Amino acid sequence: MISIQQYRERCIGCHACAEIAPDYWRLSRQDGKAVLVGGKEKRGIWNLSLPDSEWEINEQARKACPVNIIQVRRT
Ligand code: SF4
Repeated sequence: MISIQQYRERCIGCHACAEIAPDYWRLSRQDGKAVLVGGKEKRGIWNLSLPDSEWEINEQARKACPVNIIQVRRT
């Protein structure tokens, strides 16, 4: 499994993650920040666990984030 974290408060809504991995990242129409689809919030950090097969696409999204608020870890 992999674990994704997003420090959503600091998102600048650049859309990079959503372009790379639209199954997992969408821009909110409400506040313009990226939403981690299916994620759960805990103390301001959004979390999602996924199978290993989703590592690469989310790793690309992580690298593309200009403010480094996405983490992808193997668990
Ligand atoms: S790449 Fe980073 S800053 Fe840009 S929308 Fe996604 S989470 Fe927000």
